Amino acid sequence: MKILIAGGSGFIGSHLSERLLNEGHEVDVIDNLVSGREANISHLMNHENFNFIKEDIVKNVPDNDYDRIYNMASPASPVDFKKIPLEILMTGSIGHKNLLDQAAKCGARILFASTSEVYGDPLVNPQPETYFGNVNCRGERACYDEAKRFGEALTVNYQNHKGVETRTVRIFNTYGPHMAPNDGRVTPNFFIQSLKGEPLTIYGDGKQTRSLCYVSDMVEGLIRLMESDITDPVNIGNQREMTILEIGDAINAMTGNKSKHTFFELPENDPKLRQPDTTRAKELLNWEAKVSLEEGLKKSLEYFKQFV
Ligand code: UDP
Repeated sequence: MKILIAGGSGFIGSHLSERLLNEGHEVDVIDNLVSGREANISHLMNHENFNFIKEDIVKNVPDNDYDRIYNMASPASPVDFKKIPLEILMTGSIGHKNLLDQAAKCGARILFASTSEVYGDPLVNPQPETYFGNVNCRGERACYDEAKRFGEALTVNYQNHKGVETRTVRIFNTYGPHMAPNDGRVTPNFFIQSLKGEPLTIYGDGKQTRSLCYVSDMVEGLIRLMESDITDPVNIGNQREMTILEIGDAINAMTGNKSKHTFFELPENDPKLRQPDTTRAKELLNWEAKVSLEEGLKKSLEYFKQFV
């Protein structure tokens, strides 16, 4: 198939690009490198079926005859929410509309990378896809949460009113190689700090929870969803819920870091709990996370060592 991956040099997009190339597909990546990194795709550049287009999907989308379009494009770190909120809002809305229009034009099936952030600071745990969420539409995270919520609304209406074949994945916290070391999210921060023997920076009391999914599990879920006939949103994430302190302890145990933690204020609207209800993924896609935390952290550690 001929496949377009928007955001294909980002963290998850670059793993998806490599996997689809290895399966024998032709892969075009469009990325403006705002948060994506050339280093993530440098090993793919000489592949005969790979084509990189440095461009912003808000401005332009390649007019080719694609079979599949994956929209993985958006900065997704809370650090970016503060720095480039308008770019994030436009990417999730106008950028996604441009990809949907291209899908309508060439008859491609399109997958929208939505997020667990559509559930906001959730009042139910774990979160099933039927939960409408608890989002502050004016808060610091709103640029990302609301762009993704709008993107989902666009997606379902292109499906229903323009006959575009769409898929929607809600991605929960994912980690692994190709994360930017200065990304600001919990795994890169903790790995770099731990490898340097520094105290881990804990926001709030560290009792808030996240469920970390290793990137190869995520990519498997994305492809299964794309090739399924499921048009409803599907959560993809690991069900092992841990506190931030427990995640820090697991990383420190691997590096032997004995430094104490330093505590900082919890960012505004930081979700207190997050765990995917993955019943739908299990029943409809026969998907579940397979990579254990220990295995995933070990592979990530090898990757992060180069930055220290
Ligand atoms: N966090 C932390 N220290 C850090 C980075 C993040 O305690 O150096 C916390 C953050 O407040 C949040 C959780 O870890 O509760 C996950 O944050 P991240 O930015 O990775 O992703 P989020 O799930 O909030 O989008």
